[in-house]
Amino acid sequence: MASVSPNGDAIIIDHFSKSYRMGFFLRRVPAVRDVTLRVRRGEIYGFLGPNGAGKTTTIKALVGLIRPDRGRLTVLGGPPADPSVRRRIGFMPENPYFYDYLTVWEFLDFHASLYGIPKAERRHRIEDYLERVKMTEHAKKRIRQLSRGMLQRIGLAQALIGDPEVLILDEPMSGLDPIGRWEMRELLRSLRGQKTIFFSSHILHDAEVLCDRIGVIFQGRIIAEGAVGELIGSSIEGYEVALEGVPETVPVGPAQVLSRQDQQVYLWTQPADLSAVMDVAHTNGWRVVAVTPQKRSLEDLFMTLVREK
Ligand code: ADP
Ligand code: MG
Repeated sequence: MASVSPNGDAIIIDHFSKSYRMGFFLRRVPAVRDVTLRVRRGEIYGFLGPNGAGKTTTIKALVGLIRPDRGRLTVLGGPPADPSVRRRIGFMPENPYFYDYLTVWEFLDFHASLYGIPKAERRHRIEDYLERVKMTEHAKKRIRQLSRGMLQRIGLAQALIGDPEVLILDEPMSGLDPIGRWEMRELLRSLRGQKTIFFSSHILHDAEVLCDRIGVIFQGRIIAEGAVGELIGSSIEGYEVALEGVPETVPVGPAQVLSRQDQQVYLWTQPADLSAVMDVAHTNGWRVVAVTPQKRSLEDLFMTLVREK
């Protein structure tokens, strides 16, 4: 029987490797190499990397669709292929295969029945989840009539319908326009604390605003892992400071002047020099209008990590 590991990890990936046989000679080409990571219970974890990095391969192994060549994957204390574990996982594949001619309602009813939920209860749940993903008014539409954004939302409702403890979502934000992305992010955010969520994305911004922790995968290997704050929080590269009342030609301490206009000065300073700049401003009686930290984005972080490899 599956149980939660004592340390509260919902997902443990331990030295997972997988290769595919390719080409005429069926040469083994590695897709994932020695990936190790943990997701704590209740956490939102972003699994980030560019196309072809190995995200889908890892996710397939996490839901028991493929077997690892090496290593072990554990969800809620047990192997993902175990039906008692599988029932506690909600899964949304990358390109959800939908039954075009089913209606939205029929599709969800079908998935709910796979969980063995009785008919009366299914009805309540479907209503509830349609409401949550804002699809109530589309319940009678056929799947093939839906827009990409609606498909993704129905895919999420399908993953949620069995009330799983762990949600595993492969690129839930892909193919969505900015509003669709925002809606999907808000939906996932609304589940924070209720579910453990593991999702993949090649868009770093999704993770920056949503995740507790992230793992970055590149060419099958994890190249960074940690709290979003740890990975990018420490990356304040400097501060933009706006001062008022600074006479034209006066230098402003250890800072680089970006622009001067009348008595307004915009400057850039290293983190270590910020207090010195504030002192100079204070001593001279200049007004500090704004101090804006300039953060390195996850995009920058990613490019740096990739370059270091
Ligand atoms: P991602 O989801 O990050 O885009 P994938 O896990 O889908 O990455 O793919 C990782 C690598 O494995 C890629 O080079 C891809 O071409 C290869 N690959 C994925 N699935 C298969 C498969 N069924 N057969 C052969 N190669 C595959
Ligand atoms: Mg993929």
